[in-house]
Amino acid sequence: MLRLIRDGRARTHAELVALTGLSRSTVAQRVDSLLTRRLVVPAEPGASRGGRPPRTFAFNRDAGIALAADLGATHSRVAITDLAGDVLAEAREDIPIAQGPEVVLKWLERTFDGLLKDSGRKRDDVQGVGVGVPGPVEFVTGTPVAPPIMPGWDGYGVAAHLRARYGALVLVDNDVNIMALGEFWSRWRDTEHLLFVKVGTGIGCGVITDGRIHRGTQGAAGDIGHIHVPDHDDVICRCGNIGCLEAIAGGGAMAARLTQMGVPAENSRDVVRQVREGSPEAMRLVRQAGRELGGVLASAVNFFNPAVIVIGGDIAHADEHLLAGVREVVYRRSTALATRSIRIVRSTLDDRAGILGAAVMVIEAVLAPDAVDQAIAASPAA
Ligand SMILES: [Zn+2]
Repeated sequence: MLRLIRDGRARTHAELVALTGLSRSTVAQRVDSLLTRRLVVPAEPGASRGGRPPRTFAFNRDAGIALAADLGATHSRVAITDLAGDVLAEAREDIPIAQGPEVVLKWLERTFDGLLKDSGRKRDDVQGVGVGVPGPVEFVTGTPVAPPIMPGWDGYGVAAHLRARYGALVLVDNDVNIMALGEFWSRWRDTEHLLFVKVGTGIGCGVITDGRIHRGTQGAAGDIGHIHVPDHDDVICRCGNIGCLEAIAGGGAMAARLTQMGVPAENSRDVVRQVREGSPEAMRLVRQAGRELGGVLASAVNFFNPAVIVIGGDIAHADEHLLAGVREVVYRRSTALATRSIRIVRSTLDDRAGILGAAVMVIEAVLAPDAVDQAIAASPAA
């Protein structure tokens, strides 16, 4: 019922009865519980056809707040949002994740506390904390597992650490998953199956299915960067395998290739700069990277049949060159049925996708039917 009220699909008892098939008395009782918890509040009366207008309700986005953090390799974004995911206060800072969990989490807590103070909120208002990190995470425990660019974080209980401080639900996930959720939430909620591909230094993919992040058994789903690409067995990947997609089409690999070709580039941003400045080598390289990525995505499309593929990350800024390569191969190599209405688009949120996704991830968990039922059952007022 809360979901129906949040989505604006139901505003009255009668609408809830019609949409849920529950009895009028059950609906009334549950609405009262939601009113007591202040998750729902009375709203303006609806239009009346004579007689007393029906009581209407609306979701109370101010029933609490969420803390969200998108911790990147070199810079991070932190925000406080209401329960609709709208940002109330935000900060960003250049802080290398390689400084380790003690330093970074201390900074994070200090920043959260500062934002709470600035926005006149208290720690008691915090309903949940969502955090994204640039590495693999065992989602159930909120613990990074052997993250290649996060020295000191392997096995560190990030969720447990933050839960001890805020006494709220804490969810930790890898950055690509939360970006996928942010993109889905902001623009594609009317679709159910979406792939978000981040092409930065490396390549990763977030999978949204039935409107939720698909993490797989260990949280490793979507790791397309290490799928083998044919005809590149001379390329060794940082993971130790040969011919990985990331080692061929990632921004780091392209920067190295460009430098070899006499076009200086240190990182993925330099690759994009070269494309924008009209370097033919860079343009050719990015378009070919798009084709290699397209080859892997064509298989993913046949396997998963998404409605949308959103491409983000630094290299997505290389104008249309990357997307053109991706589209060319996906349309040629995927089945006609799977590509009939597929859309392959560039991210519109860019580096805001992560912070929005981190907030949405934890808000959805806090407001999930089971969690709300439990909170109502535990509440002395109910
Ligand atoms: Zn690899």
